[in-house]
Amino acid sequence: MTLAQCADNPAEDAGKQSPDYVRISAAAAMELRLVRGRFLRDCSCGCINLLQNYDVSCTANCTYCGLARTREGESVDKSFIRVDWPLYPTSLVAEKVAEKEARSGVGRVCVSQVHHPRAYPDLIAISQAIHQAAPAVPLSALVSASTLNEERLVEVKDVGVDIIGVGLDAVTPELFSNTRGKGAKGPHSWEYHWKMIRAARRLFGPMKVNCHIMVGLGETDRDLMELFHNLKEEQIAAYLFSFNPEEGTAMEAAPRAPLHRLRRVQLVKNLVEEHGLPREAVGFNDAGEIARLEAPELMVRRAIAGGKAFMTDGCPDRQGEMTCNRPYGSYRPGEPFRDYPFRPEADDLAVIGKEMRLEDIWRP
Ligand code: SF4
Ligand code: SF4
Repeated sequence: MTLAQCADNPAEDAGKQSPDYVRISAAAAMELRLVRGRFLRDCSCGCINLLQNYDVSCTANCTYCGLARTREGESVDKSFIRVDWPLYPTSLVAEKVAEKEARSGVGRVCVSQVHHPRAYPDLIAISQAIHQAAPAVPLSALVSASTLNEERLVEVKDVGVDIIGVGLDAVTPELFSNTRGKGAKGPHSWEYHWKMIRAARRLFGPMKVNCHIMVGLGETDRDLMELFHNLKEEQIAAYLFSFNPEEGTAMEAAPRAPLHRLRRVQLVKNLVEEHGLPREAVGFNDAGEIARLEAPELMVRRAIAGGKAFMTDGCPDRQGEMTCNRPYGSYRPGEPFRDYPFRPEADDLAVIGKEMRLEDIWRP
């Protein structure tokens, strides 16, 4: 996919705010034919990801995020997960979603909140606009839990949203506080996020709530594994994202997770979620890194060959297949895939095998 052709003109975007305007991922803008471009290897973008837009961007201050309050630059210049998000009238986006649905179907639409006083009413307004234009298209809300309460979650469901995504990102209370909460001069609380995650789980049902989880913020593999098991037990989906530093943020100089680490985490997560790997099958060294995997050869070979472990984690379409594949969400064109927006083929699996260096932790 080329991002260069995206029409993103900060000067023209000033003053155009939600709910009348929304940002749309560059890949989704191509999918809706709002901009021209080409996807790599004929991979399409299944989910139309929308993002609220305000003149002050986000009033939270997460240390890794391009929209953070104290990041330098005007709001309209700021990027979200390192890619451009062109701005369009919400009514035009709704119309284009309906057209694409009639032409070839739309896997899903997702409305992402930022942290802003208008974020909640505008989530409702934008979701309503999309749902009225294309009522059969599944709708997710990627929420900022701090803007919600239980009553508001009910209203979100009533306007047609069937899946709630929660940007948890940091996986321990301390890390959360340091990157999103008090330690970062931000508004978010670990306890309140979990209160909303569990309220959403009760209201929306099993596997209809997901937590976005970032690999590379400073957590250990042990922290991640603990959370994967706990979320599985609560029938809440765990969706991995790979930290990718953004210029001008507090974490701009922080390193990304090494690729071999990410691949091992992806594999073991898949073994836990889909192959019943027990907690005691993974051992850790003093630094909390995966040091030992005790799993049957057939299980491991099947998980690798299936390829799903290394694909983007995302909400499903009407058939239950992952559709939110976010091409280039956590890596640049030309860089190795962090997560694959399509099922990896044999050549890809050979690359993944080398990246993963599994022989250091597992022997058949
Ligand atoms: S609340 Fe979300 S959009 Fe706002 S700074 Fe944090 S991660 Fe970024
Ligand atoms: S996985 Fe995609 S569709 Fe689902 S909540 Fe997250 S961003 Fe939205």
